[in-house]
Amino acid sequence: MQYHDHGFRPGDPELSAPAPGRPHPAELPECVDVLVVGCGPAGLTLAAYLAGFPEISTRIVERRAGPMEKGQADGISCRSMEMFNAFGFADTVKRQGYQVNETVFWKADAEKPDHIVRTGRVDDVEEGISEMPHMILNQARVHDMYLTVMEKSASRLMPDYGLELVDVTVDSADQDYPATVTLKHADEQPVGAKNDALASAREETITIRAKYVVGCDGARSQVRHAMGLELKGDSANQVWGVMDVLAVTDFPDIRCKTLIQASGGGNIIIIPREGGYLLRFYVELGSLKAGERLARDEVTVDRLINAVQRTFRPYNFSVKEVAWWSVYEIGQRLTDKFDDTDDSSSGSPRIFIAGDACHTHSPKAGQGMNVSMGDAFNLAWKVVSVLTGRSDESLLKTYSEERQGVAQALIDFDREWSRIISERADAEPAGAQETPRFQRYFIEHGRTTAGLSVIYEPSRLTGKKTWQSLAAGFSIGERFHSAPVVRLADAKPMQLGETVGTDARWKLYAFAPAADLTSEASAIGELCDYLGSDPQSPIRRHTRPGEDIDAVIDVRAVFQQATRNLDLAAMPLFLKPKKGPLGLIDYEKIFCSDQRSGKDIFDLRNVDRQQGCLVLVRPDQHVAHVLPLDARDELSAFFAGILLPAHGDEGEPAVRAMATGT
Ligand SMILES: Cc1cc2nc3c(=O)[nH]c(=O)nc-3n(C[C@H](O)[C@H](O)[C@H](O)COP(=O)(O)OP(=O)(O)OC[C@H]3O[C@@H](n4cnc5c(N)ncnc54)[C@H](O)[C@@H]3O)c2cc1C
Repeated sequence: MQYHDHGFRPGDPELSAPAPGRPHPAELPECVDVLVVGCGPAGLTLAAYLAGFPEISTRIVERRAGPMEKGQADGISCRSMEMFNAFGFADTVKRQGYQVNETVFWKADAEKPDHIVRTGRVDDVEEGISEMPHMILNQARVHDMYLTVMEKSASRLMPDYGLELVDVTVDSADQDYPATVTLKHADEQPVGAKNDALASAREETITIRAKYVVGCDGARSQVRHAMGLELKGDSANQVWGVMDVLAVTDFPDIRCKTLIQASGGGNIIIIPREGGYLLRFYVELGSLKAGERLARDEVTVDRLINAVQRTFRPYNFSVKEVAWWSVYEIGQRLTDKFDDTDDSSSGSPRIFIAGDACHTHSPKAGQGMNVSMGDAFNLAWKVVSVLTGRSDESLLKTYSEERQGVAQALIDFDREWSRIISERADAEPAGAQETPRFQRYFIEHGRTTAGLSVIYEPSRLTGKKTWQSLAAGFSIGERFHSAPVVRLADAKPMQLGETVGTDARWKLYAFAPAADLTSEASAIGELCDYLGSDPQSPIRRHTRPGEDIDAVIDVRAVFQQATRNLDLAAMPLFLKPKKGPLGLIDYEKIFCSDQRSGKDIFDLRNVDRQQGCLVLVRPDQHVAHVLPLDARDELSAFFAGILLPAHGDEGEPAVRAMATGT
């Protein structure tokens, strides 16, 4: 990470200096820019991102009395880990969590149907599809990491616990704060908050006005209800018993993710948990009919334990401690849109919903928490771009346009996967292949469960595939598939994807042609010249006077040569920009292929070695475009469709942007 750019600061570099007026007062203000409702994975992803922008006033309200402590989801896909890396806590999750390496399949033994046999063992994640592993860690720990990001940010953002949204309305005539939110004190109150004054205040409602309201308030979302939207889909809920236990067993695959298709139904999923001992069991309890309510008294933890003992035969299973258990009723459902715009109006959205508020999944594919965080990651940079004046409000419409389709595709997958996994062990037609269907389907859809199947269609944010062949491995619309590189200035081996943070900036990676050795007439030299000096350059057009050169679009160059064959001193000054109030040189813009490891990014991602290319990456890590190095007009036009001009006089240089290195 880079720091000291504003002068030397002792202490923890991850603790930002508080912005003026922070931490904010305990009382809610009358107006805020963004009100986030709900401290689940979606709400916390959004709030943690917004916390990095203290110029945006954000509050997050939660009806619970305090942070979550246990339970709920635990699967963290490779894609979510890539996102956590941008937030800076992927390493902590790796250290604390359980890494899923193999998935094992068992089913009822055809010869002895009350016993189970192993039918296969596969890599959980296909080799090379992500630099990040599939992890298991309690949702509560993930929440804690987001809360730490918020606490350490310049905003010093903290949730307002014990507050419940009752209603939200929009007055579109109000240009400043069109959304009015009504809150009440929830039944549960934060520790220490119970006093006489609060007791009377609990009868009162609180009103707060906001520019934007984001309902991350879960499957029973009140925000969704206020928008007049409904979750559509399954009329019936599937019912799963879930338990986190410490147990002793002779089942040989107990420390691997295991799917068991028992005879007569009653499937079981085993998820080994963090810490080396804890285990999660999902026990399928069947489906409810439409409108039917679960008789919760009938489901006990003993019933779940008995179901595991029955299914585990011939193996033993003895529970020593139950850490948490629950009955989880869920159907695959989705709303038609994720914002409050009306197709017939040209108005901008004011209210959004994200996560379980707009789509619900079965726990079988482990999508719920991951897709919810993905929604918020898509929305966060757009809200920041609009509220910081970089983009106009129409950008916000792309959130629902992009994410509703993603959720639909995942629900279709989840539905099919649920159907296959719930088949009776003896349900496959005679003569079927030896590998059971649930095992085949799991292997075929590995990219989906890893969270890597999301593709944004061509739009103003995602280019067409005209020049895709210049870098076939950076597929337009998909998330940027990182690869190893070595930083030129200090020969540090690293992942190129590590350069993307949670700062709402665009990345422009310039891959140099083979012959390029940085002479002034080289393709990279000419590109740098254009980006730094031409009035049509997107950097000149969209960077404000006085801002650092990379404040909006961060350009990084990747060369084919090894570090020792390149001369940092000969590199274009544009790639060694002077930044910050002290005009310090940023040495982290230039990378080389990693020739020591043999994992050359040009080979791994099929980058055209003769021509090189530009790979443009959105702030949410998705590839926006692939262009030839000299596609000046296309590059400029692409950004003009998203970013506003930074100043009236297009010829005015972005002051610090032009300052050069030694
Ligand atoms: C009881 C339960 C058990 C689950 N078990 C599993 C599991 O075993 N495996 C799995 O994969 N997934 C499980 N899930 C689903 C998974 O946790 C969700 O998919 C994921 O948490 C979705 O994140 P979210 O942020 O959209 O919503 P949530 O995590 O549901 O967060 C919503 C938050 O909003 C708050 N809230 C709700 N209404 C209001 C209001 N009016 N005002 C203020 N705050 C409000 C809630 O208290 C909550 O903190 C479970 C969910 C629940 C609720």
